[in-house]
Amino acid sequence: MLRQATSSVLSQYYTKGIKTTFLLRQASTAIPNVNSHKGKLSASEIIERERQYGAHNYDPLPVALSAGKGVHVWDVDGKKYFDYLSAYSSVNQGHCHPKIVDALVSQASKLAITSRAFYTDVLGEFEEYITKLFNFDKVLPMNSGVEACESACKLARRWAYDVKGVPNNEARIVFASGNFWGRSLAAVSASTDSDSYGGFGPYMPGFSVIPYNDLSALEVELKNPNTAAYMVEPIQGEAGVVVPDEGYLRGVRDLCTKHNVLWIADEVQTGLGRTGKLLACDHENVRPDILVLGKALSGGMYPVSAVLARDEVMLTIKPGQHGSTYGGNPLGCKVAMAALDVLLEENLIENSERLGRKTRSFLSELPSNVVSKVRGKGLLNAMVINNTEEFNAWKVCIRLRDNGLLAKPTHNDIIRFAPPLCITDEQLDESLAIISQVIRSF
Ligand code: PLP
Repeated sequence: MLRQATSSVLSQYYTKGIKTTFLLRQASTAIPNVNSHKGKLSASEIIERERQYGAHNYDPLPVALSAGKGVHVWDVDGKKYFDYLSAYSSVNQGHCHPKIVDALVSQASKLAITSRAFYTDVLGEFEEYITKLFNFDKVLPMNSGVEACESACKLARRWAYDVKGVPNNEARIVFASGNFWGRSLAAVSASTDSDSYGGFGPYMPGFSVIPYNDLSALEVELKNPNTAAYMVEPIQGEAGVVVPDEGYLRGVRDLCTKHNVLWIADEVQTGLGRTGKLLACDHENVRPDILVLGKALSGGMYPVSAVLARDEVMLTIKPGQHGSTYGGNPLGCKVAMAALDVLLEENLIENSERLGRKTRSFLSELPSNVVSKVRGKGLLNAMVINNTEEFNAWKVCIRLRDNGLLAKPTHNDIIRFAPPLCITDEQLDESLAIISQVIRSF
């Protein structure tokens, strides 16, 4: 009875707003409202609840999702959509891939986490698997992408002091303008996007930023004997899928080698088949000194990230100098191994390359008064919208949503298209037809 009373107060709350919040709080002191998430709410009620109780640090497209499978997601009213964002390229293997779900469930019911205070029978298996796959000596497992990037910066500083001989506290790390590697204070210190860094100073010392895709500017920085590393994305994802000139990555490799500076490749978004190769660096057959992976490393199932490096770099950090309670836990390790298996077993990398070409040639035929540019590699693509009074990237995304395809604008005028890599030819044709129809409707 009392529980019934609580839920009726709850539903009043969602339809009537603030006034009933008070009633809800009163009711929940009588009985903890542990079932508040179970009632069937409409999309607008769900959106309003997030707005009321969550920090306003995102501006989501108005759609409320409750299920996903492969390339599709469904909203709370049962409407089906193509997911053309893939959780910012986390779901390369497709939503709820059964093999990855199985790995999660079976390990979760056995041993989820011990912390790194003890050895487990899974961590070493994962470490051996990933280091052999990417041909590095060692891996440092973390959770989110930003933690892995930050760990790479720590490693680079330590290597600079212990191996390169940079005077204490003088190590510098160079970044490219337009970079995005997360939201920590170090990450925003490297950012050139005022929305990211504005109002969050003071910033991390020892960071400098050069233009992306500019090898001459890079060489000037690398000549500084205190430069420890250059951290760069092989294709800038959040900046709007900015693809550097052919030869840029090879040039970065050569310059870093020449000046004894570590090249950190941030492949958190571009890695794991997204651009049509296992790594985006593979397009130019070059290897960084430090490789950072995240997102699709777990197929979107659980946060797993990793930093890979050779011994000379990785072994500069000693026990007690770096870590994370969840990093390297058995659950994440099993999920990551399953996610990598799926990527390789199901030929998702080849699919990404082939269907990516098809996507770009299709998008390039769209009316140029609406779509001014198309760019990308593999299934990481973007179209630049010629924003006018009548249409802009946000309006295009709303109309795409109405027609059954979810994508999100970045930087006002760019729409990124990054479906799960398991998309089939038929699904691609169907989704491209939606995009074409929407673009032509403006
Ligand atoms: N690096 C790159 C290239 C990214 O695109 C992102 C996130 O979009 C990150 C790092 C940060 O990853 P996370 O959001 O998991 O911290």
